[in-house]
Amino acid sequence: MRAAMNPLYEKMKTSVFERMSLLAARHGAVNLGQGFPDFGWPEAILDAASRALKEVSNQYAPSRGLPELREAVAAHYQEHFGQELSADHVCVTSGGTEALGAAILATVEPGDEVIIFTPAYDSYAPMIRRAGGTPVEVGLKSPAWRIERETLEAAVGSRTRAILFNNPHNPAGRLFESDELEIVASVARRHDLMVISDEVWEHVLLGGRRFTPIATLPGMADRTIKIGSAGKIFSLTGWKVGWIVAAPALTNAVARAHQFLTFSTAPNLQSAVAFGLKEGEAWIQPMRDRFERACDRMTKGLRANGYAVLDATSTYFLCVDLKASGLTIGDEAFATTAVERAGVAVVPLSAFAERDPPRHLVRLCFGKKDETIDAGVAAMAKAKELFA
Ligand code: PMP
Repeated sequence: MRAAMNPLYEKMKTSVFERMSLLAARHGAVNLGQGFPDFGWPEAILDAASRALKEVSNQYAPSRGLPELREAVAAHYQEHFGQELSADHVCVTSGGTEALGAAILATVEPGDEVIIFTPAYDSYAPMIRRAGGTPVEVGLKSPAWRIERETLEAAVGSRTRAILFNNPHNPAGRLFESDELEIVASVARRHDLMVISDEVWEHVLLGGRRFTPIATLPGMADRTIKIGSAGKIFSLTGWKVGWIVAAPALTNAVARAHQFLTFSTAPNLQSAVAFGLKEGEAWIQPMRDRFERACDRMTKGLRANGYAVLDATSTYFLCVDLKASGLTIGDEAFATTAVERAGVAVVPLSAFAERDPPRHLVRLCFGKKDETIDAGVAAMAKAKELFA
């Protein structure tokens, strides 16, 4: 008898980020695929972490997180968005990814449907399925990537439990407008749905834009589980320190799911993130300015080489429209050839949807030093020649 594994995982492909990063390493390509900055994390937070390694405990942290970090997260959102929060609203997790897993496991029962906006971050659908639910895709269309009320309403059925919202949106690189936020909130209120709001990109904003947490809209505080990540706020993606923020009763349920996923997160990193949230305010605007410059540099470089680039309003990703750039090749084939023969790894957007996925877009990470961007643009120019 063969020991069978869960078919969800047996049939699942390795994540597109891992796949592209491995290919980038194998071919010595510039890695613009997986999203991580190669500059600019705050030194003071690294110093706080190294002090904490010696001076703070190296044993299990409390499962919900160090009180100082939970309080710092609450105070941070009070200061930025005027939310009335306390440590009871916060549960610290090992990154946004674990926060998403815990939020989904704590919300979804077998048979439930969860609406996701595609192209969607790739952990959503598998986690919803693992919780016994079914992801229901609402496809956003480039280049506007707008949420339309009719399409969202049409996706709601008698078994819909939650909307998994992602704002700002990865991979579209888009901050939704206030009318779109209102659409999501009003559909959630009308059908009595939970909203799991993945807001990990909340501070990575371009063009002076301002972010509004969906929990601050009327009637949303008691039905929203927000996901945040220090990895994005401080450009420290490898730290994997994240959190959920929700009404205390919801936080309690998510904390119970979290206690049997990772139980707790490295205390010294938590302590350094608490320091960063308290002392690192001055860092946020320069970080945005730096990403804005990087975005401009990559956009100009790609456009000069004949690529159609969609405007990004948040995150450190931009999308290139292959079709509008005069290339008829599909995104997967482009990405494979680009990494193997032109020396640049990008991410094909078809990996982020199952139903009617876009096959003409690739995502590039612009959160890179000038020389990395220039090398990436040169390799993209080479890729274009290969298909000319
Ligand atoms: N959600 C979205 C939309 C993301 O882009 C990411 C990271 N790329 C995550 C969640 C995961 O966050 P973390 O790295 O903190 O696990």
